[in-house]
Amino acid sequence: MSTILTPTSVRSTSANSLEPIPWIDLQEQYRAIRGEIQDAVMRVLDAGQYVLGPEVTAFEQEFAAFVRAEHAVAVNSGTSALHLALLAAGVGPGDEVITVSFTFIATVSAIEYCGATPVLVDIEPQSFTMDPAAVERAITPRTKAILPVHLFGQSADLEPLLALARAHGLRVIEDAAQAHGAEYQGRRVGALGDLGCFSFYPTKNLGAYGEGGLVTTNDAALAAQVRLLRDWGQARKYQHVVKGFNFRMEGLQGAILRVKLRYLEQWTAMRRQVACWYGAGLDGVVLPVEMAGRKHVYHTYTVRVPGGGRRDLLQQQLAAAGVGTAIHYAVPVHLQAAFANLGYGAGSMPESERAAGEVLSLPMWPELKEADVARVVRATRDSLLEK
Ligand SMILES: *Cc1c(COP(=O)(O)O)cnc(C)c1O
Repeated sequence: MSTILTPTSVRSTSANSLEPIPWIDLQEQYRAIRGEIQDAVMRVLDAGQYVLGPEVTAFEQEFAAFVRAEHAVAVNSGTSALHLALLAAGVGPGDEVITVSFTFIATVSAIEYCGATPVLVDIEPQSFTMDPAAVERAITPRTKAILPVHLFGQSADLEPLLALARAHGLRVIEDAAQAHGAEYQGRRVGALGDLGCFSFYPTKNLGAYGEGGLVTTNDAALAAQVRLLRDWGQARKYQHVVKGFNFRMEGLQGAILRVKLRYLEQWTAMRRQVACWYGAGLDGVVLPVEMAGRKHVYHTYTVRVPGGGRRDLLQQQLAAAGVGTAIHYAVPVHLQAAFANLGYGAGSMPESERAAGEVLSLPMWPELKEADVARVVRATRDSLLEK
């Protein structure tokens, strides 16, 4: 049978199809909400509120309600959210901020943007998140904050981290860029620490059609400080009370995100269903674990393939079978050339290094069909059988 390859935008979902399954597809979701998005975009253009404005303000209120946090301040990226949250928490030159090495580079870069020193610690192997015992060992008199990352859509183990912060007078800033709606002991991430940082990069669980980010907090003074910093430190127009930045959210992104936020609970349920299909079918790989008391929102569906080189082999064979995958992350931050200045060597963070060699993210998006999941499962089994 000859197959005509079509763009993903008109991809068929037949189980027998030989058409590629990408590791992520944003087009199907867009098509489902196209009319509402176009109305929202036209509303902004007609009103002429291109930067901040009523749509962004309304989005802030709606996202705060979603997280069950008191305040939300929208910015232009997740990186800016981290940067401003750290500054609002008082992080500056001479301070140390403890975070993980097994994360996206932005988490660590944001600490350096403040002139502070990132102190990197290892992860717990099951959850891929910050190891509280390692944090305790890393605390020094210069430590100012702890920055856990809710990686792949699952909360870090916040209770012991919050206890350490209380005992040592530290701030907790959550990197929730991958974890919109994830829960820890029934509470939504972003509302547990002093400040929570979200990204709306298009591939995130709530994605803008462009860049976007947001800071949540239950502290009115911290919210006010982030608000000041994102718009040039202006208390009033052209009255600059602190040195600020141009980190404002665009009106178009605010309006688009308001439309998409209304679907987020449903999309999370769909992601969890996809994870359920994978979990029931996959064999021969280590499945992601939803830890007790935490709700995973499966930003990615990341498995482990232990055994030297087997992960890379599986990735190649899946690619040959038309299944796209991604590696989050192949090199932990402490081994990145850009962060050689921090002085960590190979072997200093064994769990992060082992994870980097074993992880593989399988196709994951809310609209992914059961038949396509079954195809990924079959291709994985066939590949692992071959050896
Ligand atoms: C995406 C991401 C960021 C940065 O967000 P941007 O919006 O791309 O700037 C920060 N931390 C983590 C863990 C992320 O996944």
